[in-house]
Amino acid sequence: MDVNHLREQFPALAQTLGDYPLCYLDTAATSQKPKQVLDAINHYYQQDNANVHRAAHQLSSRATVNYEAVRDDVRDFINAGQREEIIFTHGTTEGINMIAHGLTAQIDPGATILVDTAAHHANLVPWQMLALRTGATVVPIPLDSHCRIDLQAYAQLLQQHPAIVALSHVSNALGTVNPVTQMAAQAKAVGAITVIDGAQAIAHLTVDVQAIDCDFYLFSGHKMYGPTGVGILYGKYAQLDRLTPLLTGGEMIKSVTFEATEFNILPNRLEAGTPPISGVIGLGAAIKFINQLDKAAMVKRENELLTYLQQRLLALGDITLYGAHDDNIGAVAFNLADEHHQDVGILLDQQGIAVRCGHHCAMPLMQSLNIKGCCRASIGVYTNVEDIDRFIDGLISVKELLL
Ligand code: PMP
Repeated sequence: MDVNHLREQFPALAQTLGDYPLCYLDTAATSQKPKQVLDAINHYYQQDNANVHRAAHQLSSRATVNYEAVRDDVRDFINAGQREEIIFTHGTTEGINMIAHGLTAQIDPGATILVDTAAHHANLVPWQMLALRTGATVVPIPLDSHCRIDLQAYAQLLQQHPAIVALSHVSNALGTVNPVTQMAAQAKAVGAITVIDGAQAIAHLTVDVQAIDCDFYLFSGHKMYGPTGVGILYGKYAQLDRLTPLLTGGEMIKSVTFEATEFNILPNRLEAGTPPISGVIGLGAAIKFINQLDKAAMVKRENELLTYLQQRLLALGDITLYGAHDDNIGAVAFNLADEHHQDVGILLDQQGIAVRCGHHCAMPLMQSLNIKGCCRASIGVYTNVEDIDRFIDGLISVKELLL
């Protein structure tokens, strides 16, 4: 895989910031977009722009055909059983809220909801809100000293027969990969509904929802080289069918009178209103982009890059790395001595180096690490060795300035 050829497909990467070429190490927050995604969105607006499903005219039927074709592409991409199990959303956050809202009537006051301690707030706060509505209790699944899920503690918690187990496939803050297939099987054995946040996994791993055998799996287009404003809620048909729709209105109905409304069948039942059409078209192009790559070679190269990044970071001295750093993917979290992560981020930015600094929407994880925040460098398919070397050189000058 020729990474430099690949980089040419990402127009944003060619820019300079002041005197510095952009060094983009914030892919976990959002990935850059290849030209074919930008072109597909442009094409939709320039040629096919029309609302889907509604009109008899040709533009609308073209838009509808292209929009619905992406449902099949997503089905194939994550190996879902059927196309009706793919619900277009505006992102992971919306999808988890749809589930948490939709399950309200199924949750008893004494129910337990297990959530992994490193979960993104998007996979925690909706469960807290569900607990407030129902009288259920949210219980954290503890981490071990390497910030991996403590599987012994998890097995014990499962003895409480939780109603829901909500996990991240990959932690956005640390890049830790959770053994979701095994954990979902254990949860299923005690009757729990399993929800897996795949926002950070989808661009780096091959995801097979039938092999994981989870009830729900979620991700966002913008973290997999697609546009913002679109995401996927995958659910097993029977589970999706039991969700009370969060949004009601046009598109999701079969018939409406002033007395009563009959909802449509899946997937329309959970797609009220005008969907993110251009986003879905862009997501389809992103899937095609990923499918063109040699996925095994990509995973191997990303893992080698991350190992190189971690080794160089550790060799710098005065660096604390967080989490396990032998099997994480996509991201590395660190602090420089006692320096504030925000200062480090700003000084790197002055050299054209983009990293993320803060609590990474994982405040309980930061609390368990006993820190307020940290810096995170994250990589994507276009990251090269020069990016890592630039980043390390940048950090050396930050260190000289601050320490
Ligand atoms: N979960 C994880 C693990 C994430 O990294 C993110 C995005 N930072 C989200 C959920 C939320 O995704 P979105 O903002 O696209 O809804």
